Amino acid sequence: MDPRRRVPRTDAVLGEPAVRQAVARMGRPLVKTAVARAQDRARAGEIPPEEVAAAALAELDRIAPPRRVINATGVLLHTNLGRAPLSAPAVEAVVAAAGSTDVEYDLATGTRARRGRGALAALAAAVPAAEAVHVVNNNAAALALAATALAAGREIVISRGELVEIGDGFRIPDLLVSTGARLREVGTTNRTNLADYAAAIGPDTGFVLKVHPSNFRVEGFTGSVDVADLARLVHRPGGVPLVVDIGSGLLAPEPLLPEEPDAASTLKAGADLVTASGDKLLGGPQCGLLLGRADLVERLRRHPLARALRVDKLTLAALAATLHRPEEVPVRRALLASPAELSARAASIAAALKEHVDAWVCDSVATVGGGGAPGVELASVAVSLPARLAGPLRTGRPPVVGRIEGGRLLLDLRTVPAELDAELIRAVTRRCR
Ligand SMILES: *Cc1c(COP(=O)(O)O)cnc(C)c1O
Repeated sequence: MDPRRRVPRTDAVLGEPAVRQAVARMGRPLVKTAVARAQDRARAGEIPPEEVAAAALAELDRIAPPRRVINATGVLLHTNLGRAPLSAPAVEAVVAAAGSTDVEYDLATGTRARRGRGALAALAAAVPAAEAVHVVNNNAAALALAATALAAGREIVISRGELVEIGDGFRIPDLLVSTGARLREVGTTNRTNLADYAAAIGPDTGFVLKVHPSNFRVEGFTGSVDVADLARLVHRPGGVPLVVDIGSGLLAPEPLLPEEPDAASTLKAGADLVTASGDKLLGGPQCGLLLGRADLVERLRRHPLARALRVDKLTLAALAATLHRPEEVPVRRALLASPAELSARAASIAAALKEHVDAWVCDSVATVGGGGAPGVELASVAVSLPARLAGPLRTGRPPVVGRIEGGRLLLDLRTVPAELDAELIRAVTRRCR
């Protein structure tokens, strides 16, 4: 019989339990379209008629809304897995703010209030060295706003060693130039000194920018000018502002990451304006933090472009809760977890899995990732599984993403919150049957 005549009817496919579940999740129109496409492929002989439902489900899987994933990669800030996971209080705050909310309303007086005042107050309280603070969509937006408001049509002085490509082909120098500012590059790739900056600053300077090299390291014959020296240079009479992009958003020094700059120290060293990401080491929602001199922050806040870079109520809610409860932040917990504690968890997970699969405990090395603390290795512990489980675990519910190393699948526990251990065991066990 012509296989094309065996292509299942739409009603039959829609009646299959897994497809019915997809209808419940994603609605009938999308599912019907996917089924129709799979039927067409079967008629064209591209797939066997028996695989119509599976092909439709696979297509729906690819366009499903983002799912919760267990990050067992050992990369704390995994860009492809959404960078920083939110803390439980932040998730709660997002849910509460999702409906109508007092993001811009004073419930006591029944009048308009300053938008996001809770998040801004929490940020200001966390960094007393900042005279004022503002929040935009991400760090790139913070830089774009600073460049537009303070240097459009003028020059931004920046070291050639700090012309950073952030990721996905986006480059900070291109971003800055796109605002109408011109770059005045100084120094060389490996060395820039104070005299280089001094020679470049002039009547056309909008500001001096220092960018933290947060995703690479240069070694050898290198040199750069620190914030304090640069601040003394730019703050001479008739001086220009010093803007510092610290990258990963530490608000205060973190002893475990001594090379990573933080907002408080950078401001104390003399920066006029600091920019940072909210969803890197701060462990909050995607946003861009602006902290510093009150007059500069106010100029940025009132610039027309600020409205286009404004964050939504969910971001403000998550940021406030993240800042109120820093001890609950998953990135922080992952950073601080002791190898002994990780070993104990790995041992009990491996013990639970042993009856189903070849599982053992091994040492591992976790990293910060996501454009933070390049080269820093965090001693960690993993559960080692057969590599063939990598695919099935990725497509399980919930998906578990580990890392292949030495022909084995490692589930690095430093990036798995301890409260997910039982779920991790169940997810692996299901895929071993
Ligand atoms: C990550 C990073 C950026 C980009 O930040 P987003 O929040 O992703 O826009 C800019 N500068 C530095 C130094 C960074 O590390």
